[in-house]
Amino acid sequence: MGDKEQLRKQLEDQIAATELRLGQLKQELADLDAQQPTSHTNTESAIGSTEWPLLQDEYRRYGRQMIVEQIGLAGQLKLRNSAVLIVGAGGLGCPAALYLAGAGVGRLGIVDGDEVESSNLHRQVLHRTKNTGKYKVDSAIQYLQELNPHPTYIPFRTQLSSQNAPEIFADFDIILDCTDNPATRYLISDTAVILGKPIVSASALRTEGQLMILNYPPRPPGDKSGGPCYRCVFPKPPPADSVTSCADGGIIGPVVGMMGVMQTLETIRVITMVIEEGVASVNKSGNSRIVPSLHLFSAYSMPPFRSIRLRPRRQNCSACGTEPSISIETLRNGSMDYVQFCGSLNPVSDLTPDERLSAADYKSKLDTPSSDDKGVLLDVRERVQYDICALPDSISVPISEVLRSSSGSSEVTIEKSPEWLPMNIIDLSSTTPIHVICRQGNDSQVVVKKLKQLGLDQGGKRFIGDIKGGLDAWRRDVDPQFPDY
Ligand SMILES: [Zn+2]
Repeated sequence: MGDKEQLRKQLEDQIAATELRLGQLKQELADLDAQQPTSHTNTESAIGSTEWPLLQDEYRRYGRQMIVEQIGLAGQLKLRNSAVLIVGAGGLGCPAALYLAGAGVGRLGIVDGDEVESSNLHRQVLHRTKNTGKYKVDSAIQYLQELNPHPTYIPFRTQLSSQNAPEIFADFDIILDCTDNPATRYLISDTAVILGKPIVSASALRTEGQLMILNYPPRPPGDKSGGPCYRCVFPKPPPADSVTSCADGGIIGPVVGMMGVMQTLETIRVITMVIEEGVASVNKSGNSRIVPSLHLFSAYSMPPFRSIRLRPRRQNCSACGTEPSISIETLRNGSMDYVQFCGSLNPVSDLTPDERLSAADYKSKLDTPSSDDKGVLLDVRERVQYDICALPDSISVPISEVLRSSSGSSEVTIEKSPEWLPMNIIDLSSTTPIHVICRQGNDSQVVVKKLKQLGLDQGGKRFIGDIKGGLDAWRRDVDPQFPDY
């Protein structure tokens, strides 16, 4: 009976989603009827539609891809009848949208609540300098409309939430996860599983990228023939403090660009698959089936590509397993808190107020004539960031070296001290203050604690503390000319 109940629940969810979509379609039709036919495409379709399935411009525009055996006219029509949703209009979403629009998908939705910043422009190829400050979805759609006016572009100027995700997803056939944080990845996966939609998920950081097709084929929860979901691959989220963003870790534009383009390619493969006897393949001989895999790219490794076959669905998966605890109801009523599940990303504050100096207070310390107070300044950003810009007289001590050091918490001596520790601060009789700075004021706290563990503060006789808010605060409160990289 459990199975029957579950199937019942699944069907109810699908009916709810379909009813929602039906309402939207009726509204669209009413809106269309209210408009006068003005655009040239309407005129053209009125003349040409009875004889040929595509418009003249579409034959010309898509000819090069239609003559490829794996696409053909049938594939082109499938693309035109498809609705694809891109969550995230950033480094992955921009190239993905660019090629999907170019390929002629029928409806392309983009979800993003952020605005364009100039630090996005080196990789988020749909945004242009003149659109800085505009919503990313508007900036992206402006570009896409100029590229190809045929698809319908649907902007969602909002962050995805468990409350709005079911409604937004209901309209689309396939979901592209182009986000950059674990909480949203779980939310996308759960919603897509409940609504029975495949996901093409990608991520990229520094020089590396990952790509997966999830929930494909998109069978109901409990059906072992369906593809694994994000929770099957990552049942537990990574510790919040281990998650590095592109802002902190950096990213090379073409790396994330390539992952976004690969997402489009996988999406086109899914849309144009021929389904025979329940098995999807790209052609009738059954070649090139989509096998759930994790594709790994590493720009500075040889070979740069590797693929690992994913395990099937986990039977105990809370989204796609035999007894799922996640449903459309748990999404809508917010009982599944994704941010809490993945841990908070708020700035840490591990130090007491008297172990922290504001950027302005540190500056006035530097400006005081009594030079003893100035102490030393350790900059714990990675060396590559230090080389871009640093404060005068600061000493580079990269946090990665501090964390890698195994010399534990035993007290330091002149003979035995960690390699990363600069010689001039090892003097245990010195009371010269030690200041620690990083980019935003998180890593600096970690290093202050470490220095204290090593006994360098002589039980409180020597000041060791960090600059609150790091170099960002320095730029904001002391020196606006300090580079904002
Ligand atoms: Zn699962």
